[in-house]
Amino acid sequence: MRALRLRQWKSEPELMEVPEPTPGTGEVVVRIGAAGACHSDLHLMDEFEPGSVPWNPPFTLGHENAGWVHAVGDGVTGLTIGQPVAVYGPWGCGTCARCRVGVDPYCENPAGAPVPGGGGGLGLDGGMAEYELVPDARHLVPLPDGLDPVEAAPLTDAGLTPYHAIRRSWPKLPPGSTAVVIGVGGLGHVGVQILKATTAARVIAVDTRAEALRLAQECGADQTVTSGPNAADEIRAATGGRGADVVLDFVGADATLALGVAVARTVGDLTIVGIGGGTLPVSFFSVPYEVSIATTYWGSRPELIEVLELGAQGLIRPKTTTFALDDAMDAYRQMREGTLEGRAVIVP
Ligand SMILES: [Zn+2]
Ligand SMILES: [Zn+2]
Repeated sequence: MRALRLRQWKSEPELMEVPEPTPGTGEVVVRIGAAGACHSDLHLMDEFEPGSVPWNPPFTLGHENAGWVHAVGDGVTGLTIGQPVAVYGPWGCGTCARCRVGVDPYCENPAGAPVPGGGGGLGLDGGMAEYELVPDARHLVPLPDGLDPVEAAPLTDAGLTPYHAIRRSWPKLPPGSTAVVIGVGGLGHVGVQILKATTAARVIAVDTRAEALRLAQECGADQTVTSGPNAADEIRAATGGRGADVVLDFVGADATLALGVAVARTVGDLTIVGIGGGTLPVSFFSVPYEVSIATTYWGSRPELIEVLELGAQGLIRPKTTTFALDDAMDAYRQMREGTLEGRAVIVP
């Protein structure tokens, strides 16, 4: 079969012929219907080096996958061949306290996971191929009626990651509250949709690009703000001077983190989702009182079930551009150039 493989750090992935996987005991092979291309894949190609993460190439890219059950190994029950499924991407040990409640990205026994701190497309072979080997049937979530793999694939990361970040802040988003979304890319635009679908908060979206702000409006943002020197004042003014109850930073650069603090309301949440590598000085007087600052990484398996349900009900709909496997590198090129709108989905 064909697969888009990262062969070494700091290199472009290559489309190549590899053997089709066969499932061992407890494993499942999924015929890939769609694999999302994630901005973090660019970090894998461009920035990571030995020691950056506990795993190394070669592996097939694609950590945002959905398709159909193709073959099951011994001991797998509850799945039928041809059944449409989403692949839950973070693969933990399955037995620690975090994994037991479905929060595999925070696995506390990484040595017991198929790969420490990774999954398919992140150290192990992912979904940018015709088939993907999934090491445990528990990582598959049946698709609800009304959702096909092309719609479902981006929900497993571009949907699940913002959903997790937003869901934890629901108690701070009652009617009359304000949420700010910084960075309206693959995750941020779905974040706007999730906020509108699950809360009554007023949503302000921030980006440098006019097209991104248009996309935010399409997704239901109540107000858009161009990032720059006036952004903080504009957002403060829009909240009657109080600031935003919840700020979600999908960029994570120095400038966006500084903006987040500048517009946060007392007792608010500032959640850093983007892996832009910025830093934020925190001291008694530098942050509004009782603002909680947290990073979040991906989401839980129960949350994926909820996100798929939102998708099946048509309440969230990631904007996607589809590419054939042959054209996957075009997707990454457009992402690098900032011309890609929404999420790129590779359909092998
Ligand atoms: Zn990702
Ligand atoms: Zn674990």
